[in-house]
Amino acid sequence: MRGHGHGRRFRKMGKWTVSRQAILDVFAKKSGHLTADDVYMCIRKNSPGMGIATVYRNLEFLREQGLLSKYNFGEGSAHYELNDDEREHHHHLICKSCGKVIDYSEFVDRELKLIKDTEKELSKKHKFDIESHELCFYGKCSSCAGR
Ligand SMILES: [Zn+2]
Ligand SMILES: [Zn+2]
Ligand SMILES: [Zn+2]
Repeated sequence: MRGHGHGRRFRKMGKWTVSRQAILDVFAKKSGHLTADDVYMCIRKNSPGMGIATVYRNLEFLREQGLLSKYNFGEGSAHYELNDDEREHHHHLICKSCGKVIDYSEFVDRELKLIKDTEKELSKKHKFDIESHELCFYGKCSSCAGR
């Protein structure tokens, strides 16, 4: 159930550079959410010539191309995540204490209905063609809440 029924649309890719491919390889290998620093640390081993500024630039480029999603989880640095067609659409639970990110794609029935209804009404009200959404819930994870 990708995007609860709405497809993803990718813009046509421009010219590929080695560095962009290297970044995508990192995301393919390490599934999950990565900060620019995480990506930089991984890339440094294989492409020692690439600087952090290049990593930042390419992450933004890949986001603009629709290949990555960017999330600002609380006060920490932005996380990027691969928009993988094979990966299920998911929502996020984010712990504000430890920064832990929980992906879930087993949606509560009411959640699915709520999102469907909300999208329907919003697109009607604002005459807006909704293609996707990102959903994050903030709070405390079980280990932080138990402290
Ligand atoms: Zn959703
Ligand atoms: Zn926590
Ligand atoms: Zn995620």
